[in-house]
Amino acid sequence: MSNFNPNIKFKKKIFPGTEILYKKLITGDRYALSEAITLIESDKKEHKKNAKSLINLCLKNPKNTLRIGITGSPGVGKSTLLESLGLHITNNQKPAILAIDPSSNRTKGSILGDKTRMNKLSTSENAFIRPSPSGSTLGGVAQKTRESIILAETAGYNPVFIETVGVGQSEIAVHSMTDLFILLIQPGSGDEIQGIKRGIMEMADIIVINKADKENLAKAKTSYNHYANAMRLFGKKDNGWQTQILMTSAVENTGIEELWSTILKYEKHVKSNGFYEEQRKKQNIDWFQEYLFNKMMDIFKNDDNLNSKFDETQEKVAKGLLSPYQAGDILFNLLVNTNK
Ligand code: GDP
Repeated sequence: MSNFNPNIKFKKKIFPGTEILYKKLITGDRYALSEAITLIESDKKEHKKNAKSLINLCLKNPKNTLRIGITGSPGVGKSTLLESLGLHITNNQKPAILAIDPSSNRTKGSILGDKTRMNKLSTSENAFIRPSPSGSTLGGVAQKTRESIILAETAGYNPVFIETVGVGQSEIAVHSMTDLFILLIQPGSGDEIQGIKRGIMEMADIIVINKADKENLAKAKTSYNHYANAMRLFGKKDNGWQTQILMTSAVENTGIEELWSTILKYEKHVKSNGFYEEQRKKQNIDWFQEYLFNKMMDIFKNDDNLNSKFDETQEKVAKGLLSPYQAGDILFNLLVNTNK
């Protein structure tokens, strides 16, 4: 029946065979990269299948790249700094900038995506910028971001920056898929005021006090001292790295060179002590576990009967009629028996 469905031809036209797309990708074709990301963002069943085989092909040739997470409150200067840093390195590097913005799901308006961003960098032949994929859950968005990272790396991009707003769980997701984590701070306010949790500070490998210019300079120096003291108290990380505190002005382009050289220093450190490789293994394990969990949740979501049973059971947990264990066992057994 599907042979006569005109849509099938149309879809094939948009997304050429996986092999062809892969071959285009490895030549560094930007359009192929955009197309490949559109493919992995699609929720259509057929596209999902193609996307998975494409990613499987890409994963056969893992790259020795650097994945950099960057977070900070809205307005702290993430885009401006990424543009400045991106322009600083495009002579020798091909940076990709991807974003995770959980707010776009909840409010339909995105904190990261709505404004015109990185105008100058986006015209550079050597840079690739892609806003946050949409999705109904952070888990779903995170999975698509992991896939986008692999695609960008296959197309020869390095480093890959993953930008996220410092407002929730997304930092943890970004931390679990990157090799280096940068936290941006607004000068002059203590961490309590900025709502930056200790956990996020502990995740940071580099803390950047941005907007260290004009009337903010004195405040930036105070913040610098505050964070330098705090991080000294935290001590070195398990990988032997002491979190570095830097001051930048993204608009005046100061501190950008130092930021880049600190990133390179970090890369050298983790690549020479085996931590990078360990971290990559951990990233893959996290990915695998997330995938398995999401796949199980999809089975519930895509079957009307299972879906209503899921909602019903969840409701009973909320009302205290079933313990989380009881509810989990009921649904697990249901899943196993349905798929026998
Ligand atoms: P984001 O929401 O974290 O991505 O922040 P943006 O990059 O959009 O910057 C928010 C505002 O801060 C913009 O008006 C920028 O021009 C400004 N800004 C960013 N970096 C700096 C900086 O280093 N110094 C000053 N003075 N302003 C900056």
